[in-house]
Amino acid sequence: MTPRNDNHIPDRVQARRPRNQGTDVTLIRTAQRLDGRPYGHYGDLRGDWDYGDFTVHIERIQADPYAPPSLIRVTADPKRMGLPAELTANGDQRLAVADYLHRAFLAASEFTPAIRMAAVTQEILQRSAVSVTPERVELRFGVQLPARGRTILGKEAARLFDVNIPDAIMDTLDCISEDAAAFLEGMRRHVHAYEDYRALQAAVQGNGWVAFIADGAILPRQSGVSEEPLSTAVAFESPESLRVEIQLPHAGVVTGMAIRPGVTVIAGGGYHGKSTLLNAVQRGIYAHVPGDGRELVATSPTAMKVRASDGRAITAVDLSSFISHLPGGTDTTRFSTQNASGSTSQAAAILEAIEVGSKLLLIDEDTSATNLLIRDERMRELVAADKEPITPLVDRIRAMFTGQGVSTILVMGGSGDYLDVADTVLMLDQYRAIDVTERAAQIVAEQPRQRRDHDTFPSIPARVPVRRRKPERVKTKVIGRGLIQFDKATVDISDVEQIVDPGQYEAIAWLMRGVIEDLANARMPLKELLGTLERRLNSETLDTVVKFGAREFPAHLTRPRMVDVAAALNRYRALTVLSVVNSSEGD
Ligand code: ADP
Ligand code: MG
Repeated sequence: MTPRNDNHIPDRVQARRPRNQGTDVTLIRTAQRLDGRPYGHYGDLRGDWDYGDFTVHIERIQADPYAPPSLIRVTADPKRMGLPAELTANGDQRLAVADYLHRAFLAASEFTPAIRMAAVTQEILQRSAVSVTPERVELRFGVQLPARGRTILGKEAARLFDVNIPDAIMDTLDCISEDAAAFLEGMRRHVHAYEDYRALQAAVQGNGWVAFIADGAILPRQSGVSEEPLSTAVAFESPESLRVEIQLPHAGVVTGMAIRPGVTVIAGGGYHGKSTLLNAVQRGIYAHVPGDGRELVATSPTAMKVRASDGRAITAVDLSSFISHLPGGTDTTRFSTQNASGSTSQAAAILEAIEVGSKLLLIDEDTSATNLLIRDERMRELVAADKEPITPLVDRIRAMFTGQGVSTILVMGGSGDYLDVADTVLMLDQYRAIDVTERAAQIVAEQPRQRRDHDTFPSIPARVPVRRRKPERVKTKVIGRGLIQFDKATVDISDVEQIVDPGQYEAIAWLMRGVIEDLANARMPLKELLGTLERRLNSETLDTVVKFGAREFPAHLTRPRMVDVAAALNRYRALTVLSVVNSSEGD
């Protein structure tokens, strides 16, 4: 559960009280002394408590036992904790170390239910719960302060601050004691996995590929609800014709399959692993923890899975390259709806992704609107062209690449129409990838179809979001996976598949606010606003959301991609765009 914004003693009230300073001994004594008092007296614990090796800052006290937990920050000196300098020398290393310490703290506090640390996933990501800078290591987490009814259980609280919390902290931060050797070895592996991933991603971009999957990678997951690797998996093996070699800083020479720009079709029988391959590519935008199986899968960082999601809203998107003359003479060059169909929703997802700079679209027939992907001869015969508003993707996919530089990886087992627009055709056969590009070309020659490719792909208008007045009382809350409460509105982003971490939803909620309430200026198109936002995140970390209205010291945020923030804004039903300017550059 993510903490709510309300139900705490307001910041300004807490700030008015004197901030205590002392040692752990004072904190523990204070907690004991509070035993039996009304819950509100817990406010006395607020302050900075020096434990010697680290400092515990009790920043916010919950108003009552049923409110979201109190907020604790722990700071320590990395040198004093013995964090190896060679693992914390640059931003990448520090991010990976923070991710590692986060997992260590979760393990160390596993049996103390009062401690509420943000959850993690298989991805190594920037999260607000743990950060490492050259000067300081910082942990943030919640603590449910114990009570019976509304009466303080002071002895229990004292025990938390005397034993459970410092023990968990020392298990997480102590790199000096004798039994720290294995811990440090794990940290080194973690950092090296991240550095190798980053090098791989740079190589993908440097070589002009769109994705890379290493030989030996384990792609399938244990189940639909578990991201752990499937233990009985067939390891990935690149077709010989697509195999490349890469030198990585720690793993050394690695071989695997490079996916080139253009149109890549993944064909094959049902249940042969097509979607699994695409899902791995989808997740290749992020680094994975050692042992995950996908450590050496890397994908173009702006890759966007685009799928059908009927019922979503669309705001002023130029759909005309896919959809024109809708019933009733609806203008599709600036199309808005509160209730998109399957095909309009997927067409919008494609165009919105390109608008904000995505160069790789990932499409799976399983989650697509068939009528957007294909239309065969018989159907063209039955429904005359002037009655059918849709230009299927198969007629546009080549121009999307040649005209806009946007590549596609498409899972398509159900129709051969894409065989003649593909640069590469992969077939999955019993989970093995085979390069069938030549065979596909033969089949196309033997069984030609009439092609109706459009030669051009119109440039995508850049939309300028309207600034929204910040309401008196903001409500920003994440409900389950993929539902954001945004004041009175609910934004459903559960179809944005590359949001992988619960903390990303919360971050996105605040960043949406940032874009439309703080940055939007009636001049900058969405893509530029996101660029500004990204620079802010780089210089100010996720804490920049405090400027957008989040409470101080956010403890549950995970950094999302800007293209995913855009996807959320695009699903916000009250989004308004001021004007549509035609971006001339086709960058
Ligand atoms: P498709 O999209 O081709 O119908 P999926 O990708 O959904 O197939 O995979 C079908 C099943 O096979 C899933 O249960 C998946 O976990 C499993 N699977 C996929 N790839 C592998 C693999 N390399 N080794 C073992 N099982 C796999
Ligand atoms: Mg499938």
